[in-house]
Amino acid sequence: MAKKALLITPELCIGCRACQVACKSWNQLPAEKTQNKGSYENPGDLTPTLYNKIRFVEVPSEKDPIRWLFVSQRCMHCEDAGCMKICPSPGALYKTKDGIVSFNQDKCIGCKLCIAGCPFDIPRYNQKNKISKCNFCEDRVANNQPPACAKTCPTGSITYGDRDALIANAQKVGYQKLYGQMDLGGLGVLYAFKDAPKLYGLNENPRIPESIVFWNNVLKPLSYIGLGGVVAASILHYLVIGPHKEEEV
Ligand code: SF4
Ligand code: SF4
Ligand code: SF4
Repeated sequence: MAKKALLITPELCIGCRACQVACKSWNQLPAEKTQNKGSYENPGDLTPTLYNKIRFVEVPSEKDPIRWLFVSQRCMHCEDAGCMKICPSPGALYKTKDGIVSFNQDKCIGCKLCIAGCPFDIPRYNQKNKISKCNFCEDRVANNQPPACAKTCPTGSITYGDRDALIANAQKVGYQKLYGQMDLGGLGVLYAFKDAPKLYGLNENPRIPESIVFWNNVLKPLSYIGLGGVVAASILHYLVIGPHKEEEV
């Protein structure tokens, strides 16, 4: 089975946010009250009920007073997924045959370690303390349908297909190297940038923290030989994030 991917071409994005709406609609994610913080970007961050957000970036321009850059922010569906490396609860995060990194909230124990394992600050937690993030419309892909965001995008800024074919097509139109092509074993979400990725808020060289890799190799196996997922998670949490602090009132 060929690995699937989304190719995002920010140059083609008009900031209409139809992909945000389609994602919410397909995944039955409720609307949220938002606050104007002086930007057209809305909401200002990913939330447990917002899997895909269009980031609005304003940069100085010689021709116009300002230049707008728009880019979709969501889970990257990393081949080498830091969230999966650190997660101590088997099945809470899993990979499908298409390369999608999906989740099962029933198996999530709410330890929040995947936040520390993700180089892109993606996992969010709902009110029941369960992980929430883009699932690549796993159900649609399983039925040979494109993800809702790609299906809806009116400009072709988000396209879906076999990963190798998307890369080959992008190269044909002049994008020699895509963001995500080689990073973290190859991302399931690729970006065709004309500007530097950091202008869009993306790390030039995403890496899984060494401590996560180390503890993945040392402690995680213990949870499988009897220590128990919750106990292992507590130790990992202490080592990676630090001791639990009392909530401020
Ligand atoms: S972007 Fe973060 S949450 Fe998504 S697969 Fe990669 S590590 Fe996991
Ligand atoms: S792939 Fe599906 S879940 Fe992910 S951002 Fe697109 S519409 Fe949302
Ligand atoms: S639907 Fe397409 S053009 Fe509109 S904001 Fe999303 S990516 Fe951009």
